[in-house]
Amino acid sequence: MSRDPIPLFKVFVSDDVLKPVNEVLMSGYIGQGPKVNEFEGLLKKHVGNDNLVTVNSATSALHLAAHMLKKPDPETNWPGLEAGDEVLTSALTCTATNWPMLANNLDLKWVDVDTETCNMCLDDLEAKITEKTKVILLIHWGGYPLDLDRISEILDRAEKRIGFRPFVIEDCAHAYGSRYKGKLLGNHNSMACFSLQAIKHFTSVDGGFITMPNKTLYKRAKLLRWYGIDRESPREEFRCEADVEEWGFKFHMNDVNATIGMHNYPHIDRLVQAFKDNSAWYDKELEGVAGVTNMRRDDWADSASWIHTIKVERRDDFSRHMEAHGIMTSRVHERNDKHSCVSQYKTTLPKLDELVNEMVCIPNGWWLSDDDRQYVLDCIKKGW
Ligand SMILES: *Cc1c(COP(=O)(O)O)cnc(C)c1O
Repeated sequence: MSRDPIPLFKVFVSDDVLKPVNEVLMSGYIGQGPKVNEFEGLLKKHVGNDNLVTVNSATSALHLAAHMLKKPDPETNWPGLEAGDEVLTSALTCTATNWPMLANNLDLKWVDVDTETCNMCLDDLEAKITEKTKVILLIHWGGYPLDLDRISEILDRAEKRIGFRPFVIEDCAHAYGSRYKGKLLGNHNSMACFSLQAIKHFTSVDGGFITMPNKTLYKRAKLLRWYGIDRESPREEFRCEADVEEWGFKFHMNDVNATIGMHNYPHIDRLVQAFKDNSAWYDKELEGVAGVTNMRRDDWADSASWIHTIKVERRDDFSRHMEAHGIMTSRVHERNDKHSCVSQYKTTLPKLDELVNEMVCIPNGWWLSDDDRQYVLDCIKKGW
C-alpha cells in the first residue's frame, strides 16, 4: 500500500461553514456589515488589541501601513515620507512584503539575514540605518519572532543619532499565534499586518488585519480602508456622504469572508498548537541527525511555526529524495532581491547567499498525523 503524498500546505475550512455562508449570500447584504464587525470583535479579543482593523489581505494592510506614514505628525515628531526615503527590509520573504513599499515610493534597502533563524540580521540592520531610513519592515520568518526589545534599543540609538525614530511595520503573515516574551504579536507598538489568505494558519479565503499602536492611527486606518468615508456615521441620503478629508482605498473586508473567518475561528488555537507541536517534535528528533542543522530557538520566542525550516547538506538532493518518498518540501519564498524589477537595490548579502543554498521547509501542519511525521523523520534519517 502506498501512502498519500504529504503536502507542505493545506487549506483548513470548518465543515459547518456552508449554512451560515449561504445565509449571508442570500441575505441581500454581502458587503462590509455586521459580520465584519462581529469578526473584528473576535480578533480584537484574541489578539488583545482594540486598535485592530480588518482588511481584504495582508498585502492591502502593508500598503495601507506604508501609505499612512506619508503624512507628518508633529505631535509624535514623525517627519512623514519624502522621495528617496528608505525602508530597511529582508529579501527573504514573500514578494507581498516588499512590493507594497515600492507602490508607496519607498526605496528598498536590503538587510542581510541571521542564518540561524532566517530572520533579519540585527547587527546589519543597525549598521544600515541612516537619515533616509524611515521604515523598518520586519518579517517573522515562519512565525519565529524577531528580538523586538533589541530592535527597540537599536531604534533608541538611531533616534538620538538621526533625530527621529524610524517606524516599525511588522509583516505577521506567518505569525498568527506567535508570542514574543509571552505576548502575542500585534501588541508591540508597531503597525502589524496579518494574513487570512487561503494557506495561512487561519483563513477567511482572502483577508487580513492590521493592528495599530494607538487610537489615532486606528481611527485613520478605519477610514482609509474604505475611501476615507466613515461607514458608522448616519447618512442622510443614500450614497451621499459627509466630506472626505483624506482619501483612502477599497481595502475593506466583506461579510462573506468574515463569516468564513468566524467559523474557522473556533478551531484556530488547536490548529496553531498542532503546527507548534510538530515543529517542537522535529527540533527534538532531528537533533544530531547527520546532514541536518536545526534553527535556533531562543527561550523568549514562541513561534506559530507556519513552516518548519531546517538546513540540510546538498539541499536539492534532499528535496528530490523527499519528493521520491511523497513528501513535499520547498524554500517557500524566493529571495526578493533576485527579481529584475528591484535590480537597482542590489547589494551583497553574503549570509543570505549561504542560507538559500541550505534551507528547506518540511511539512509540519495540522494535517500531519503522528505516523506522518514519523515517516518524514524516517525518510530524513535514511539519508539522501
Ligand atoms: C502570505 C503572505 C503575505 C500576503 O498575504 P495576503 O493576505 O495574501 O496578501 C505577505 N507576507 C508574507 C510573508 C506572506 O507569507
